[in-house]
Amino acid sequence: PLEKMTAFRAMIAEVPVNDDPKYVLAKSRDYYWYSPILKDQLDAMTGQIVVQPRTEAEVITVAAACAKLRIPLTLRGGGTGNYGQCVPMEGGVVMEMTKLDRIIEITPGRVVCEAGARIEKVEHAVAETGQMLSMFPSTKRLATMAGFVSGGSGGIGSLKNGMLRDGTNITYVRLVTVEEEPRVIELRGQEILKVQHAYGTNGIITALDYGLTPAVDYLQVVALFDGYDVALSASVEAETRGIESFLLTVCERRFSRFYKKFADIFPPTHDAIFAMVAPSSLNAYKTLVADHGGTVVLVKTDAEMDAAGLPPVWECGWNHTTLQALKVEPGIWTYLQVAYEPPLDFALCARQLERYGEEIYWHHETARMGGEVHFFALPIVRWTSKDRMYEIIAELEAEGCAIYDPHAITIEDGGMKAIDTTQIDFKREADPHGLMNPGKTRGWSAEMAR
Ligand code: FAD
Repeated sequence: PLEKMTAFRAMIAEVPVNDDPKYVLAKSRDYYWYSPILKDQLDAMTGQIVVQPRTEAEVITVAAACAKLRIPLTLRGGGTGNYGQCVPMEGGVVMEMTKLDRIIEITPGRVVCEAGARIEKVEHAVAETGQMLSMFPSTKRLATMAGFVSGGSGGIGSLKNGMLRDGTNITYVRLVTVEEEPRVIELRGQEILKVQHAYGTNGIITALDYGLTPAVDYLQVVALFDGYDVALSASVEAETRGIESFLLTVCERRFSRFYKKFADIFPPTHDAIFAMVAPSSLNAYKTLVADHGGTVVLVKTDAEMDAAGLPPVWECGWNHTTLQALKVEPGIWTYLQVAYEPPLDFALCARQLERYGEEIYWHHETARMGGEVHFFALPIVRWTSKDRMYEIIAELEAEGCAIYDPHAITIEDGGMKAIDTTQIDFKREADPHGLMNPGKTRGWSAEMAR
């Protein structure tokens, strides 16, 4: 209601706001439109006002006002999430975190920064100290550090350094609670699991740390193979041969029509591996490719890629692939996220490729989890209907694959299926009125129903 908003604005008077409906609508969106199912569900949803705090003190002012007036609060970083993670399902306040973007400290192995710092900005700052981020999403230009930590799971670099929640990739999170008198809570070590991948439902992150490694000038390498099965098997063997790589994406030949800038390099007659290989492993990698009957057709540094007008190879992997397909054939494609139990069963992948024909195009990604390399597929799927999508999901699950459903709006349905009680317990503490990003956790709805 109008009076509530008037009261809210009076309570946060010093904090910049924007209530132009066009702006508010734009900031109530993310990349959920990859999914026609989510598009139907979320297109009409919008917040009432966008607030843009510049300091943690201003974040506290907004949190207190939302708690006192019981206004829903949805946090937003770069808005590059894929599952409507920052779409306000019950209206209210959208808090845009991108003005909170200071880099606080860089030490060997760690960077501490404010929540809304764009990932690429942090990457440039740590590069000056001879270091690099342990991993990043291909959206790093727009995406923020806290948005990645709260909405993401891993990305380019995960093959070397594990998923976000593994090891020491994140060891510190500072957050503000949404209460009448907000508190600042600091989580350390394993405690960060209380908020990692919680979609901003249980506390407003204002600062965090992130793992760095000594910088390696990974080479961007494209190799071509005579069949998808040999390309897959080469990527598995890369690990047993101890090849140091930051990214290995196995991509079937039908993707070549989407990768227009690679037209001379990746023809529709061959399957490919797009990789980032440490210079010290290049010779071993070339031998591996040759042993699988393949050919290395491109080796370039980042600067050389740029000079040649080529996009980085990581734009041919993970979820950037879906974007590439949608750019060329809008409205035709959507996607799925599939996880395989190691060791990878090549026969299973071949059966899946064969079974769906023109309906599904495959690429497989590698990431380290608990020290071991796991395979994921983010296949693009020709959209027909919701029923068909869930039929495919059921078929893949029946074969032992796990599906991280990108057509679902709650954390649980999209990810691990089970309710994460640690995160719900923490939500009781950090968001006792249940105002943060309502509708995104089944665990909290169950809690309320009790
Ligand atoms: P947003 O979309 O703004 O927010 C994500 C979630 O975090 C929301 O729920 C939001 O409420 C919450 N949030 C934002 N700020 C805060 C805060 N300060 N405190 C608490 N919660 C907060 N993801 C991956 O994990 N790996 C990938 O490789 C990857 N590749 C992608 C490629 C493409 C082309 C696209 C479109 C997406 C990809 N994603 C990937 C998803 C997304 O880009 C990442 O998760 C990204 O890092 C999100 O950052 P953001 O700042 O845009 O977050």
